[in-house]
Amino acid sequence: MTEPNSDCLFCRILRGEIPAKKVYENEHVFAFEDIDPQAPTHVLIVPKKHIAGLKEAEADDAELIGLCHLAASEIARQRNIEKGYRTVLNVGPGAGQSVFHLHVHLLGGRSLGWPPG
Ligand code: 5GP
Ligand code: ZN
Repeated sequence: MTEPNSDCLFCRILRGEIPAKKVYENEHVFAFEDIDPQAPTHVLIVPKKHIAGLKEAEADDAELIGLCHLAASEIARQRNIEKGYRTVLNVGPGAGQSVFHLHVHLLGGRSLGWPPG
């Protein structure tokens, strides 16, 4: 992990300081079960590099953001939820972002309404 942030909840999970149910990991990303699942599958995929959120991401982070989404598609395949799932980035408190380490929500395993709330 580069640029660790000692105050960041997801950096602490990445360091193993806070337990999480690991779902998937590769060189660049880590995925774990959301503690308060909103669907039968609710997984969070985070880059190992601390990026506060999409607003703060830079051009160099493009590959990492893409890799988070590709990890989501791999997990969805493994879980057999490819009939319909959603990847979500909440950006800013007004959209519900509460943890300021970029994360992709993978939601699936039930029908998902549109538009989201
Ligand atoms: P946000 O609201 O920032 O888009 O998403 C943060 C997510 O992190 C929420 O869905 C919340 O349930 C989840 N979360 C918050 N604290 C923890 C924790 O300690 N462990 C895990 N696994 N998920 C957490
Ligand atoms: Zn972090």
